[in-house]
This record gives sequence, C-alpha cells and structure tokens, in this order.
Amino acid sequence: MSSKTLSSLFHGNKFLPPYSTPSFNHKRSTYTYPPNKFVPYYNPQIGNKILCLSKSNSDTRKEDIVIVGAGIAGLATALALHRVGIPSLVLEQSETLRKGGTSLTLFKNGWKVLDILGVGNELRTQFLQIQGLSIKTDEGKELRSFEFKDVDPSQEVRAVERRVLLQTLADALPPNSVQYSSKLAKIETDQGTGETRLELTNGAKLSAKIIIGCDGIRSQIAQWMGFPEPKYSGHCAIRGLAVYSEGQPHQPRVSYIYGRGIRAGFVPVSQNKVYWFICYNRSSPGPKVSNPLEVKKEALDLVKNWPSELLTTIDLTPDDKISRAALEDRWLWPALTPPVSKGGVVLAGDAWHPMTPNLGQGGCCALEDAIVLAKKLSSAMKHGQGSVEDAMRSYGDERWARVFPLTIRANLVGGLLQWDNPVVCAVRNGFVIPKVVQIGPLLEHTNFVSEPL
Ligand SMILES: Cc1cc2nc3c(=O)[nH]c(=O)nc-3n(C[C@H](O)[C@H](O)[C@H](O)COP(=O)(O)OP(=O)(O)OC[C@H]3O[C@@H](n4cnc5c(N)ncnc54)[C@H](O)[C@@H]3O)c2cc1C
Repeated sequence: MSSKTLSSLFHGNKFLPPYSTPSFNHKRSTYTYPPNKFVPYYNPQIGNKILCLSKSNSDTRKEDIVIVGAGIAGLATALALHRVGIPSLVLEQSETLRKGGTSLTLFKNGWKVLDILGVGNELRTQFLQIQGLSIKTDEGKELRSFEFKDVDPSQEVRAVERRVLLQTLADALPPNSVQYSSKLAKIETDQGTGETRLELTNGAKLSAKIIIGCDGIRSQIAQWMGFPEPKYSGHCAIRGLAVYSEGQPHQPRVSYIYGRGIRAGFVPVSQNKVYWFICYNRSSPGPKVSNPLEVKKEALDLVKNWPSELLTTIDLTPDDKISRAALEDRWLWPALTPPVSKGGVVLAGDAWHPMTPNLGQGGCCALEDAIVLAKKLSSAMKHGQGSVEDAMRSYGDERWARVFPLTIRANLVGGLLQWDNPVVCAVRNGFVIPKVVQIGPLLEHTNFVSEPL
C-alpha cells in the first residue's frame, strides 16, 4: 500500500489525534504508534489488520461507506468495492475474525465470485475438489450415486473451512479495513444531512453516507429497517470438522445418510479434515447449548447405530470445531417485507435473506450479493449512472428475484428430506431416490452469470 493511501487512512481517522500517525514496517507488516492518549490496540499474535479502539471518543467520525459485520457478506462486499476502487470500513463486533467454526460447501456460483474477487485460486489449492455424491440409508445401503461432472461439466464443489475463507478475504483488503471490537449498538438517520449515524457499544460514533448491513441472521440493521425476525424451520443442525492426524480415508465425495426425521452427511475438506453434519427434527430450537462435549454427545446419541465411518468422524472432532444451530429463514414476501434499502442503508447476506442450509446456498448467495452490490454502487458513484439510492433499489430487485425463490426452495427441500413417516420414508428409499431423483435440475440454481468487476 502506498504511504499516501496509508496516511490518508489515518489522518481521516478522528479517533486518533493528528500527531499519532503510525509508521508502517512493510517487512514485518506491523505498525508503530507514537505515544498518545488514544492508542489503538495492536495484537501481534493475530496480525496487522487488527485495530481496536481502547477508548471511546465523543467526536463523530465521518466515513463514506461503513459495512457492519466481517462475515462472508461483509468481507466479500468490502473486497468487491476495493476491486472497483471504492474504499470502505468494516466494523466487526468480535475481537478477531471467526477462528473456530467448521466448513461450508461452495458450489460453482461461489467459486465464480471468488475468482472475480481474485482469491479463488488461493483457496482452491487448500481444499479438495469434490467429484460426486452418494446417498445411503442409515443401515449403510447405497441408494444412489452421482458424479457432478456427468451432469454439469462446469460444476465445482469444495468444502471450505470458514476460518480460511474469511482470513483470505480479509488478507486481500488494504490494512486496517476491518475495525474489530466494534459492536453496533444504535443506528439512526440524521434528518439534517440524510446521513446515517452509528453508535458502537464502546460509545464511539460514526456517520456515513452508505451503510451496508452484513451483520448476519440476527441483524440489528434489518430490525431497524422493519424486517421481521427469522422463523424457525422445525429443524436443528449439529456440524463439525473432524481432524485425522494421519490423513483422512475418504474419497472426495459428499456422503449423505438418510434416516427418519434425521439425516447426516460428511465430506472431505482437505487431506486431513472432514466436515460433517446432522440435521434433525425438533419442535422448538430449545436452549442454546454451547458446551462442545454436550453437543458431541447429542450428535453421537442421534446417530448411534449409523454407519461407523460417520461415528468415527464425529469422534475425531476437536471441541472448538463442533456447534449446534437452529435452522431459520425469512421469506421476503413482496409488499409485506420491507425493501432491501432505506435511504443510504442496504442489506446483504444473511442480514437480508437468511435461508436454511439445505441447498448449501446461504454463503454462496452472500458472495453473489457482494459482486452485484459493488457493481451497482460503482456505476452510480464512479460513473454517475443514477443515484446511490437507485443503485441500491436496482440491486434489491435483481437479488430479490434470485434469493426469494431459493429461500423457499431450500425450506421445502428441508421439509421433504426430514420426513419421519415410515411409509413415506420407505417410498423415498425404495423408489424416489433410486429411480426418480435427478441431480442436474437439483443443481441448476448454482448457475450464476456475472461479468468481471
Ligand atoms: C448449519 C449450517 C450450514 C450451512 N452450510 C452452508 C453451505 O454449505 N454453503 C453455503 O453457501 N452456506 C451455508 N450456510 C449458510 C452460511 O453460513 C451463511 O449464509 C453465511 O455465513 C452468511 O454470511 P453473512 O456474512 O451474511 O453472515 P455471518 O456469517 O453471520 O456474519 C455476520 C458478521 O456480523 C457480525 N456482527 C453481527 N452483529 C454485529 C454488530 N451488531 N456489530 C458488528 N458486527 C456484528 C458477526 O460477528 C459476524 O462476523 C450454512 C448455515 C448453517 C446454519
């Protein structure tokens, strides 16, 4: 990064007094700060992109674009904007990027976006390309098997460690693009300027012309815009990332196992890691269980007589790589749900369209949102094609037509796969899966057309 860009980043930062300009050591990728009252907190163990403010300041810091949330949507949007020459500041409530967590499967639409963002190949080298999928009964009998390339030669499927995906996106941003320990507490519109004011839980205040709400399924920004709470689907999921120290033994294929009212699956991620999940019916989400031993025990109890390869995978999962989630979504009914933008505030990713993971598309769609939004904003801001508000509306129209049907489809697919009626399950296993199901139409939603940024 040029010293001009770097110094403008800091001189424009009202949290730091003017004499506190840091010097950047390019060889060690660290900053040195002169002594002052508002010293940013640099954590050398985490890396050079950590800038946390140790003290709040009553001044309001002005930004052009603030993105709230450094998840997939927030980081990909910041990177897409950066690639078109538009800087932004990402606020993340946590002290670091998500370090634990498991994996998510990215299909060819996700890879297309990662290529456009310039990080696809870096990720490809770390994760196995998955060749196909097999479906078995809970007794281990194979019902059906498909090769992805047979139905779509352009399909690309890889299970990616979420931690690595986030870090790769963040590393491609200019230093200090992400400000950690910055939890949004309050959002309001300044009636005078039309700008949006944000207040963080540490008391810091910002105002920005554009706010992009990427703060996930519990989005405070979506709530402020009038969106209803996401709805529980009737299913929960436990997922984990097993570590095989001697190398994992599986073919690069997704293995699904279907029971009654419960299904599981596992997929190799790399030479020594395997991602797995169990999805099961539950009338209510129940209390949040965060003790990993309890979650692992629940997982093993749910599938206790199932094929041993699944049980071994669960056993080999470290404590920080297992979690349980209630599956929720929000259907964006036209006329009933608020539009995606309000003034200069717009939503992306789960903050706007949480969907159940039955099609593996929530993260892929968050990536797609990033590209479409950055293109529309770039047309308005850099090429003067319409106003920013028009750009946001146009983004909303284009993306609504994509994500609303997918959200419904994911929900319906989940309902079908979670059937627990013994007769229905017998027909599914004896006829529907072996004779009727075609993988091609099931993956048509992974087609995503986009020009480079
Ligand atoms: C069980 C399960 C399996 C899944 N499998 C897949 C899959 O295989 N493929 C796929 O594509 N998708 C999958 N998904 C969906 C995918 O995980 C989500 O769609 C994706 O993570 C959405 O990214 P996001 O950035 O919108 O939200 P998040 O990942 O939730 O990120 C939101 C970020 O905002 C931050 N934040 C929240 N509130 C605030 C605040 N007030 N102030 C500051 N920061 C804040 C959070 O700390 C977080 O970093 C799965 C989901 C589940 C539950």
